[in-house]
Amino acid sequence: MRTQNDICLLCKESRATQKNSHLIPRFFGKGLFETRNPRHGIEINKDGKRRRVQDIVKEDYLVCPGCERGFSILETYCSLRLERFNKLRYYQEFKRFKIGEFEYFECKNLDIKIFNLFIYSIIWRLSVSSTYAFGAFSLPKIHEEELRSILSNYIVKTQEDLISSITDLIALPNYSHITIRPHKKLRPPNSMLSAASLGDYLHEIFLVDYLILFLTDSDKTESQLKEIDNNNLDKLVRIGLVSVDNWKKYNYTSIKEALR
Ligand SMILES: [Zn+2]
Repeated sequence: MRTQNDICLLCKESRATQKNSHLIPRFFGKGLFETRNPRHGIEINKDGKRRRVQDIVKEDYLVCPGCERGFSILETYCSLRLERFNKLRYYQEFKRFKIGEFEYFECKNLDIKIFNLFIYSIIWRLSVSSTYAFGAFSLPKIHEEELRSILSNYIVKTQEDLISSITDLIALPNYSHITIRPHKKLRPPNSMLSAASLGDYLHEIFLVDYLILFLTDSDKTESQLKEIDNNNLDKLVRIGLVSVDNWKKYNYTSIKEALR
């Protein structure tokens, strides 16, 4: 068990005194708790054991308050811009594409460098976490350290500082990450908050209304999914779209597997 006397896992300088760190940005979990009465979610660990939870998973003493604040700057910036997709008046900020059955949208107002750090911050936190819920998720140590080292360069105090410091980010590791969501959010969500490593290089995270696939080897990415791979610094952020029916099917299969 970590304590407040341990060193921050991210900066490795300050004491990890931060309690209640969100492992997953709060806005992702909101859908789980906003529409039900009583409001609770079900957490499933790697052995398939379930328990009821009132809020999304938090953990004490992983990082220092400064690093926690750095993460929240990434989250505020990205969540605001991603969530505008559902609001008609921000229609102009997104461009939609359809190639056969394959659909995605581009976010014109979301800096892809910041988006990459945001995704990396989620992956890194889930990997270093020792909570029950994310026991099935872990990256090889070499990649955990690679992410830590990038993230620790961009822990700053304000969004303005982030935007100015990120100009010196000029290369990313050879990863891939794909983000997918349904056309329309389901309420109740019929989906879950969970994360699992499905082998050496493929890691999957369900964030209620979003699914993230993270690959530590970009050569393993299916060619069609490469179209919406956001692990780059020069394109616009692309989010894959699936029909509500396919989303339900995919989630249902995964939930069934988790409960097996
Ligand atoms: Zn720190």
